[in-house]
Amino acid sequence: MARKIPATIVTGFLGAGKTSLIRHLIETARGRRLAFVINEFGELGMDREIIAGCGLKDCREDDIVELANGCICCTVADDFLPTIEKLLNRPDPPEHIIIETSGLALPKPLVQAFNWPEVKARVTVDGVIAVVDAAAVAAGRFADDPTALAAQRAADPSLDHDNPLEEVFEDQIACADLVVLNKTDLVDAAGRGEAGRLVAAALGRGAKQIETAHGRIDASVLLGLGAGAEDDLANRPSHHDAEGGEHDHDDFESFAIDLGPVADPEALEARLIRTVAAHDILRIKGFLDVPGRARRHVVQGVGARFQRYYDRDWRKDETRRSALVVIGLKGLDRPGIAAMIAGA
Ligand SMILES: [Zn+2]
Repeated sequence: MARKIPATIVTGFLGAGKTSLIRHLIETARGRRLAFVINEFGELGMDREIIAGCGLKDCREDDIVELANGCICCTVADDFLPTIEKLLNRPDPPEHIIIETSGLALPKPLVQAFNWPEVKARVTVDGVIAVVDAAAVAAGRFADDPTALAAQRAADPSLDHDNPLEEVFEDQIACADLVVLNKTDLVDAAGRGEAGRLVAAALGRGAKQIETAHGRIDASVLLGLGAGAEDDLANRPSHHDAEGGEHDHDDFESFAIDLGPVADPEALEARLIRTVAAHDILRIKGFLDVPGRARRHVVQGVGARFQRYYDRDWRKDETRRSALVVIGLKGLDRPGIAAMIAGA
């Protein structure tokens, strides 16, 4: 029997640095034929675009498949499994498959999907890698408010958390074979220690943690974990085990904003920072059309931290546009946010 093709699942909350980690993985893959399945929350399909726009020679656009429309964990049968089968049936199947889940996806239903007979015979989950924003964890972004939780529990004793971020965070960590504590350059030693402690508490078993900044981990560390995670589901508890994995993502929402050409990205960034502070937005990302520049401008924000750069030239067959996707907890004031970002 042919050896199974390994698949690595890269999970992690919105803005943890999954895309940077994958870009670095491509740079260090040393010619290994990789295929990517990229899943994203929000309408724009940014992550596929960022990876495809990376300009790396080992990165062929054909090898990157996007699964938009919500969360991979909810659409495994309809979208994910046919995608994997299509990759396997290529004349030159990949040597390793990398799956980037959306920041809100739960990894366990995805790992479970690898037990489907058509896939199980040919693929194994080499490892689940959870990328963690150390600064956000240390700042208590994923922590419950004990008072609020006690009050809510009085009404509903089965309640796990009052903070929906904590539930997603814990599900992602508890499923991991390797936790990458990323963005450690943004915290001091005490913050790193605190983040590591909180991650270890969510892990509840002996998975390894490694610290890094900018997702700089070599492919030789990330790939080849040999976990066989699909046969080890019992050791990967989820908050949704009691409901047989049933879950929803109703706590979160996203919407896209079209801006028109942006002559001054710096001024836009200042408005974005003010908007995030005023509206408690989790994530903003998108591309800008900067007049007079051949390249498109990437904007990415996690909380109030923003990053901008020019990536690739706009192609002749695409329309230059400026579009941002905004993600947050349900109840976002869409008109208010759009007006602030537009500078109205
Ligand atoms: Zn889901």
